[in-house]
Amino acid sequence: MSDFKKPKTKEEYLENFGQIKPLMNATMAYYESSRCLFCYDAPCVKACPTGIDIPLFIRQINNGNLSGAAKTIYEQNYFGNTCGKVCPTEVLCEGACVYNEQDVKPIEIGRLQNYATEKAIKSNLNLPKGQIKRDERVAVIGAGPAGISCACELSKLGYQVDVFESKEKAGGLALYGTAPYKIRNEEIEDEISYLKTQFGFKLYTNHAISNASDIQKLESKYDAIFLGVGMGGTRNINIPGEGLDNCVGATEFIESLKMNPLTTAIGKKVVVLGGGNTAMDAASESARMGADEVTLLYRRSKDEMGAYHFELDLAKSVGVKAVFEVQVLEIIGDRKVGGVKCTKTHSKDGILENVNGSEFTIDCDMLIKATGQQKYTPLLDLIPLNYDRVGRITTNNNFQCSNPKYFAGGDALNGGAEVVNACEEAKKAAIEIDSFLQHK
Ligand SMILES: Cc1cc2nc3c(=O)[nH]c(=O)nc-3n(C[C@H](O)[C@H](O)[C@H](O)COP(=O)(O)OP(=O)(O)OC[C@H]3O[C@@H](n4cnc5c(N)ncnc54)[C@H](O)[C@@H]3O)c2cc1C
Ligand code: SF4
Repeated sequence: MSDFKKPKTKEEYLENFGQIKPLMNATMAYYESSRCLFCYDAPCVKACPTGIDIPLFIRQINNGNLSGAAKTIYEQNYFGNTCGKVCPTEVLCEGACVYNEQDVKPIEIGRLQNYATEKAIKSNLNLPKGQIKRDERVAVIGAGPAGISCACELSKLGYQVDVFESKEKAGGLALYGTAPYKIRNEEIEDEISYLKTQFGFKLYTNHAISNASDIQKLESKYDAIFLGVGMGGTRNINIPGEGLDNCVGATEFIESLKMNPLTTAIGKKVVVLGGGNTAMDAASESARMGADEVTLLYRRSKDEMGAYHFELDLAKSVGVKAVFEVQVLEIIGDRKVGGVKCTKTHSKDGILENVNGSEFTIDCDMLIKATGQQKYTPLLDLIPLNYDRVGRITTNNNFQCSNPKYFAGGDALNGGAEVVNACEEAKKAAIEIDSFLQHK
């Protein structure tokens, strides 16, 4: 049973979705940074996909050099502030911190990262930029973490970069998908607007690249094109009843609640299907939106869940009930979702089987499918490139597609990972684009 009431005002919404990693004040940052051992060959750095020099920026914070700390972070990761909040630090940098071996709380690296970068954004701190100006132009399709990171790096290298984004706002799933108790929308918008000011790329929102003529124009006007288009909407699960009202996809539900929290409908009894991080987020968010009961159903065992265990614990801490080894056979209801017909499952030699005669029904008035995203966006149908069998773009080791003018990075390439992976791949892709254009 959840303790939250459906938020009716912005204040109530912010209270229900209070930040789990709030900003540190100066005393907290000084104390926490003084705990760091500034390890040689630090394991936290190795665990960071973008390789931020963590001991260096922590030392800079400790010495009061906040500008230096922010520059150290942005040197490696253009979404330094966003990643400080949304990265699964528990399994990355903080999970690798040497303090874990002594059973002592690891350094709160993510929060220290936010402490330094938030100040840089607020003061519009000047970041180092390249001196060379190049004549070539690069188009970036998609203004998610991948597209924006690629645009920053290319602008720094002197190119003229135009970013095209179909949605009203830039940020991709970092903005439209990540949980509101991890980061507020304004924080992501502020970081993107800071990067735009710093690096000077042009951003065209509400500007979908959606047909063959758009593609043709881009190909003739630009010397290279980066695809940072992410993935598609929630995949259908093809069971009876999927078309009933109140049966919704997780990414669509989360986008609605992030953009219009006060008008997003929530059921009283919500069932969430899935065992990944998106399922945990959708369940936690349903509870915080005021659902009386939230039940998470996963067809395999707890140990086989794709979600991080700390995300499950977070969902449970707000009253979510998790049930494992249960498969939904049918969504029942008359026009609207009224329940789900399920069966128990078990795994035999790694193959999932339904347990005969174990069918049962759970009453619910909303079903959220967190059963994965479609692997591609419609745009990719228009561009003759090589894709793998699940629809991911394939590239060579230089992030270059089968048509050499195109490069790719982020979810569209890796099939869905974290913000930090999209940032890192896109930055590397930008360096490869530079090398391609210089040798052309
Ligand atoms: C519900 C949810 C929660 C998540 N939570 C976390 C988290 O807590 N921490 C974390 O690190 N990661 C999280 N992720 C994953 C993370 O958000 C993604 O890995 C990351 O955003 C991928 O970045 P990207 O730029 O590759 O793609 P996206 O962020 O998907 O951006 C792609 C952009 O391209 C645009 N686009 C697509 N087609 C076109 C077109 N034809 N023309 C113009 N623009 C186009 C899209 O509108 C979008 O803005 C979450 C994902 C989901 C779904
Ligand atoms: S591993 Fe921990 S103590 Fe060592 S440098 Fe990294 S944050 Fe500091």
